Amino acid sequence: MWFYESLYPDIKIGVKGKIIHRKKTPYQDMQLYSTPRFGKMLTLDGAIQTTEADEFIYHEMLTHPAMITHPNPKNILIIGGGDGGALREVLKYKIKKVYLVEIDKDVINISKKYLDKICQKSFHDKRLNIVIDDGAKFIKNTKERFDIVIVDSPDPIGPAKILFSKSFYSRVNSILTSKGIMIRQSGSTTLQADELKSSYKTLKKIFPVVEVQLAAIPTYIGGFFSFIIASKGTNPKKLNVKDIKKRINKLRLRTKYYNPEVHTGSMGLPGYVRRLLG
Ligand code: SAM
Repeated sequence: MWFYESLYPDIKIGVKGKIIHRKKTPYQDMQLYSTPRFGKMLTLDGAIQTTEADEFIYHEMLTHPAMITHPNPKNILIIGGGDGGALREVLKYKIKKVYLVEIDKDVINISKKYLDKICQKSFHDKRLNIVIDDGAKFIKNTKERFDIVIVDSPDPIGPAKILFSKSFYSRVNSILTSKGIMIRQSGSTTLQADELKSSYKTLKKIFPVVEVQLAAIPTYIGGFFSFIIASKGTNPKKLNVKDIKKRINKLRLRTKYYNPEVHTGSMGLPGYVRRLLG
């Protein structure tokens, strides 16, 4: 059978595969496919979330540019991220604790059962605190302060919509420590340009440093996919290849996509993105 993504009204990616699990959770329509080309693939409300074949690109670029930029990240918050990929990357650092605030426990359960190549053992790490809650609600009530906040949410549909609002970003700013950094996925630079533009403009009003990084992720159609880093401290663009190499070597960090040249090169934005960001 074929899965056709329904994220856009006028363009679709089709992936041949076999459905191995489907559940209408209280929050979303969750489907899991086994595909010959991309391995296992998770979709939510008709949008591709992650695949075994290319998840490493997304999860490494959603974590390391912020984790490496922060001088000493200890307390981490991941909002969303129920597949455990971002968590797996964060646990490569000498952190004290990581909160994973996921609204839908079914995503975690399905990931543990079928996506062990992605989450690996990350859900069993003793530094992890799992909170099943709406990320926007959690950050309103938490007394914790975080060095890094990672927003690993789907596109602004369904329960994820709130995770793109000004009030959400302002609250993230207030629960970050003085040198804290937020990083988030901000969609395709072509098919979701408005999402990228509005998040960037909003974050520019709240954070002193806001940078955009690009990566090409095969199953997120629309050319370059974007990530936004909003920092209260170090500017990720100010780190040079030598500094990053030193930090990576000290951590003995193993990655398949992210490296010092990718860190700096991915912030070199093409003209159309610069114009989009004004
Ligand atoms: N890589 C994907 C992307 O870029 O669209 C994101 C994947 S991850 C599986 C997205 C997770 O965010 C899902 O598990 C979903 O349940 C969770 N989520 C959606 N809205 C949320 C909210 N308001 N609070 C916490 N988690 C949320």
